[in-house]
Amino acid sequence: MDLQPYIPGLSPADPGPLSRFIPPLEENVISAWLPPHAPAGSWVLDPFGFSPRLVLEAARAGYRVLVTVNNPITRFLLEMSANPPSESDFKAALADLAVVKKGEERLAAHLQSLYITVCEKCEKEIQAESFLWRKGEDAPYARIYKCPHCEDSGEHAATQDDMDRAKRIAATDGLHRSRSFERVVELKDEDRVYAEEAIEHYLPRPLYFLTTVINRLDGLKLTPERKRALSAMILLACDAGNTLWGYPSERLRPKQLNIPNQFREHNLWMMLERGLSLWTETGSGVVVEAWPRKIPEIGGICIYEGRLKDLAHEVKKEIPIAAVVGSVPRPNQAFWTLSALWAGWLWGREAVEPYKVALRRRRYDWAWNATALNAAFLHLFELLPLGTPFFGLLPEPEPSFLTSALTAAGAAGFDLQSLALRTEHDPIQLLWTRGEHLKREANESDMDAVREAIQTHLIERGEPASYLHVHAAGLIELTKAHALKQKNQEFDEALRGTQALIQKALSGDERFVHYSTGENVDTGMWGASQEQGRGDPAPTIGDSLSDRIEVAIVTFLQKNPDSIYLEIEDDLYPRFPGLLTPSKAMIYAVLTSYAEKDKSRWRLRPEDVANARRTELNTIIAMIEAVGTRLKYATRKEEKNYLWETLAAEGGGKSQVTKAFYVLASALIGRAISETTYPPEQAIIVIPGGRAGLVSYKAQRDPSLAARVKSYQLVKYRLLRTLFEVPVLTRETFEEQIASDPLEKSKSQMMMF
Ligand SMILES: [Zn+2]
Repeated sequence: MDLQPYIPGLSPADPGPLSRFIPPLEENVISAWLPPHAPAGSWVLDPFGFSPRLVLEAARAGYRVLVTVNNPITRFLLEMSANPPSESDFKAALADLAVVKKGEERLAAHLQSLYITVCEKCEKEIQAESFLWRKGEDAPYARIYKCPHCEDSGEHAATQDDMDRAKRIAATDGLHRSRSFERVVELKDEDRVYAEEAIEHYLPRPLYFLTTVINRLDGLKLTPERKRALSAMILLACDAGNTLWGYPSERLRPKQLNIPNQFREHNLWMMLERGLSLWTETGSGVVVEAWPRKIPEIGGICIYEGRLKDLAHEVKKEIPIAAVVGSVPRPNQAFWTLSALWAGWLWGREAVEPYKVALRRRRYDWAWNATALNAAFLHLFELLPLGTPFFGLLPEPEPSFLTSALTAAGAAGFDLQSLALRTEHDPIQLLWTRGEHLKREANESDMDAVREAIQTHLIERGEPASYLHVHAAGLIELTKAHALKQKNQEFDEALRGTQALIQKALSGDERFVHYSTGENVDTGMWGASQEQGRGDPAPTIGDSLSDRIEVAIVTFLQKNPDSIYLEIEDDLYPRFPGLLTPSKAMIYAVLTSYAEKDKSRWRLRPEDVANARRTELNTIIAMIEAVGTRLKYATRKEEKNYLWETLAAEGGGKSQVTKAFYVLASALIGRAISETTYPPEQAIIVIPGGRAGLVSYKAQRDPSLAARVKSYQLVKYRLLRTLFEVPVLTRETFEEQIASDPLEKSKSQMMMF
């Protein structure tokens, strides 16, 4: 398998609506992948429809994107981001809502009054931004506000009035609660209990707020565009109004409907207003049609609301699909359940009906995920021509998710062509092609082959890897061998079998070293043992991946001064494809060590340009020799080491090596250690001060290196210069001085991986 380079992208500047439930993907990835794989204007299929942005980007890149979406909320997000109402429609819709009468008051004033609190400092009545709750209590314990009259802001204990107000609203809760589930399911519906359970994730005040606003939505005489705009703002309030907002440690991306022990209740009127800016930033201008209406060749989006299985044979007849793209789905019980609820609130029971199953299901495990994915891949297999490429992004990767996706695709006849993995925080980039139409033999899994594959990766890497990386190396081997799932085996059994196999391969083999504080195989990091195994010669491990990355970046900047970050990534990723993809943190650690940034352009620091470094290196070597002479040592060069030897007279006619210096201009500390042939207590590795941060960064992410570095004496150029200047220097003071030069802890808050 020829592993492809990772395609670099950009984190979106604005996370967009409902971003905590939408796959976290980078921008400019799909538009970079498509052109070499599908001619402009051709049809591209997204069978999952999980990422509105991905679909939009493909359409903007000039493709006709057919997308199947069965979640009404995702569909709405897609339509809205492709074709949002104008900012004036948003403003007008909110203004129309604000002035509706509620009794004697305007609705805006009434809804804002729900959040009134008193400023602790100036004692004026103001709006709380949020109230803080403890799970199970009937009143908030604190409030957060920013007083517009005085400077006071932040978290304050709730007042008696705050608590009484919350309880007063709760007294009428029953009515609003039953009204809000009747919009989702009928009273006699057997799914009613599930809707009720989902609504348990709303406190009385937000529920009152939302039902009040939603009731008005039907009565307002709005243009279709304004109604869409208002629905979009209400949708964000629906999400802001639930209890899934942990405080203070916010669970950023909830997957389950669990009420946190402490949570934040947002001021929903403020959220409605904030929704306005979130939506109007989403951009515009793409044709969106509903299947089977066609879209122009210059690109656009064709939405099929429903399941792939119902679409498959129609597409096969009418539309030649050039490529498949998509964010591979992972289970999200919280979002799916809430989507059903919100669809009912916004558009009524008929809108929920096709999606109602989402309310009912409570548990989604990876076997469920693999079974559902496999069904989708089987339909795709039927409708795609042989060899059609499928570019899948697997967000928030974890070993089980990757196993599930590869097993599902392989069992449906898709051949894995490439897998590029950066870190567990980035989407994995997968490339499949639709395989041959023949009954493929499933093979028994071969533990030895898995071990070999993992060891090969670790040796190639030259440093320990995360469990996810070694798991991926094992999975690739099993995929190639068609050994992920046996014929007639359930997915549940297949996934468990694969996991057990890979973990057993690792834990029962002396070729692997586990760096972990925990017992579990899937924690910490795994490295290749450098000890000689039973009967096998010790593997030759070359420069570590991080050392090679350092060299590549510096070489690139020597040749290409003033490059922007993306150009550096573009050069780097093809050199380190597949599982070797360098992390952003690693790239930045090298850049901040060697280079400075002017606006967005990086160039080597003057002292790190090759000529300057070479001159300085020679100066330092000369100083080692000079200091040695003063301490009555002779200096001799032996390969890359500079040795201090006692004079023959001192040793009774025999000279002895007391120190071995290794002078580095880089942070290639692993190489320095392997090229220092003297024991650690004699060796001194000399590095430029500017490299110290990079050395400690490398040691932090590589436990094997950390262990080796610890026993060596590292000294900075600066110290040697100081010693060179000291008028009186003895062997004792020299020892004291070098022992007092600790490798600096990296000062800045560096990203770990
Ligand atoms: Zn105040």
